[in-house]
Amino acid sequence: MQIIRKKTHTVYVDDVPIGGDSPITIQSMTNTDTKDIQKTITQIKALEVAGCEIVRVAVPDKESALAIKQIKAGVKIPVAADVQYDHRLALLSMESGADKLRINPGTIGSLDNVAKVVKMAKERNVPMRIGVNAGSLEKHILQKYGSPTPEALLESALGHVSLVTDLGYDNIVLSLKASSVPLTIEAYKLASEKTDFPLHVGITEAGTISSGKVKSAVGIGTLLYMGIGDTIRVSLTGDPVEEIYCAKDILQSLNIRKFGIDIISCPTCGRTKVDLVKIATQVETLCKNIDKNLTVAIMGCAVNGPGEAREADVGIAAGNNEGLLFKKGEIMFKVPEDKLVETLMKEIESL
Ligand code: SF4
Repeated sequence: MQIIRKKTHTVYVDDVPIGGDSPITIQSMTNTDTKDIQKTITQIKALEVAGCEIVRVAVPDKESALAIKQIKAGVKIPVAADVQYDHRLALLSMESGADKLRINPGTIGSLDNVAKVVKMAKERNVPMRIGVNAGSLEKHILQKYGSPTPEALLESALGHVSLVTDLGYDNIVLSLKASSVPLTIEAYKLASEKTDFPLHVGITEAGTISSGKVKSAVGIGTLLYMGIGDTIRVSLTGDPVEEIYCAKDILQSLNIRKFGIDIISCPTCGRTKVDLVKIATQVETLCKNIDKNLTVAIMGCAVNGPGEAREADVGIAAGNNEGLLFKKGEIMFKVPEDKLVETLMKEIESL
């Protein structure tokens, strides 16, 4: 099955493209106090190691806008400044080197303020992500539609967009987020039909790590499968590094991008005679940051085990307190249960 991706404009966040034929990028947002420069850099570095490609920091005040300069000097990936209401913070963030703005121009006061921000963005080639949220739609739009409908979200987004495009700038990424998965899907479908701006896709306020991952996978995954979405952000209440792992799993499960090792493991059943849950969990953790394009099968018995293990680059089909090791389709040797993780990791390293 081939996903046919909607053709959008390409914008560049420093040297990272969003849209067009470029890979669907993974974003996250720090949850540190941006003014705490060292803590913020440490978190961004952890995000980089996990695979984050663009990071956003909150800019609630002048000190945070100024901190971007030092933060940028300490990290490799582009930094986006999240600015609400105050155009001066947008200007200061760009002066500090922000590679992208997340801003809604309709909320920063007069047209003169908008013009100042657009002028500087144009001079520095800084793209803007205009993002509307079902929870904060304008009163007149809510009155018109009665509730945050997909049409209401799009009308709000296009209102902000026109303030910028009227000034001759279209270096724009759009997002239309809601905490409801069906509403988010319908809003993005509509936006994708009506505009060619690259879309930043995500489910906002998705929840804690376990429930938020499911909501995000269903919402983002459905859209990506329909060919909608150019950059994704999984929002979780927790460590943002988990957002990156989840985003990678979503992209990998749809065969959109490949990130390191793909682990296939069975759910176990009454036939399993080893602690397969422990073995699979340990191998998954040890493989997390290994950048190799491999499939590893960890199977509980001889029913489906040999078939899956043979198809994988390396795999085990477990038996009674032991496992049969397969490599590149060949049976290698039997391994006692307590040596299975160690042996699998050695074989993975050798490939
Ligand atoms: Fe059960 Fe074997 Fe299937 Fe695993 S592979 S679920 S142990 S039948």
